Amino acid sequence: MNVVEYLMGILPLKDWWYWIVESIVFTTICLALTRWCKISKRISYFYAIASLGIVELVSLAITRSFSPVSIAAATLGLFVIAIFEDQRFYSEKKNEQKIKLLEKESERDYLTGLLNYRALSQEINRLANNNEIHNIVIGALDIDHFKKINDTYGHFVGNEVLKYFSTVFREQIHSAFPKHGYVYRFGGEEFTIVVSKHSLEEVYQLLQSIEKLFNNKSIVTKEGMKLIISFSCSLTDRLNDELLDTTLKRADKMLYSVKNNGRGWIVTDQHHQRPQKPSLERKINNNY
Ligand code: GH3
Ligand code: MG
Ligand code: MG
Repeated sequence: MNVVEYLMGILPLKDWWYWIVESIVFTTICLALTRWCKISKRISYFYAIASLGIVELVSLAITRSFSPVSIAAATLGLFVIAIFEDQRFYSEKKNEQKIKLLEKESERDYLTGLLNYRALSQEINRLANNNEIHNIVIGALDIDHFKKINDTYGHFVGNEVLKYFSTVFREQIHSAFPKHGYVYRFGGEEFTIVVSKHSLEEVYQLLQSIEKLFNNKSIVTKEGMKLIISFSCSLTDRLNDELLDTTLKRADKMLYSVKNNGRGWIVTDQHHQRPQKPSLERKINNNY
């Protein structure tokens, strides 16, 4: 006997408690399966449908309704459920993939493809809650006289410069510190570097080589214009148990000392003096 037969008036409402027991047993099995995280969703769907079949067969046996017709009806019912559940499984999987993609996109800056400020905040929270990571270097970076590029060549060229600068930085940091070094677009022409498990000196050496790279090689825009760019940078170590926000603020403050002292060099906890080198600023000012 089942609900359809009862509703059609074929059978009277008797043995109603079987339905309740059947529903409770099936719901319990499904709940146990969904909480059973180690198996994949697809396998838990399969187990759920198989268990529904077994529960149904047991219930048919108990109510002595074991007939070829009732077995065929139960099998057909299970078959239909299996098809719909399979469809549901696929649409759920597709939705999960879409959500993951959207989550990833929401952490990326659209123009440069770099991780954005939102991702930086999340990484800072993650690192702050990880007691195993002690060595964290934070860097603040700012392209020098970027407004002049916009004012002289227009915002589209400015965007090209931002893209080029970001690509070079991302490639260099990722290849030097795989899985431990990340570049974020803090906003505008400002960037943040977070490197864990490496020393400040290692990061400093790399940034010096990137600095040379930009000094010696001009960017060629789509229109064929050649631009030399420089950046100002500060690097600081996270002090013992210091909040990472405090480290970030120190890096930002240190950056001002570079901006107020000729631009185009890197200040660190150990390197406070502007290195003696030809004035890049004059070179840049002549360039734009
Ligand atoms: P400084 O050397 O002191 O850093 O000078 P600056 O000109 O680089 O800095 P300033 O803060 O005066 O100007 C930054 C400019 O960056 C102003 C803003 O219009 C421009 N900017 C910010 N975001 C973008 C962007 O996405 N694309 C372009 N093309 N320009 C941007
Ligand atoms: Mg700037
Ligand atoms: Mg700036």
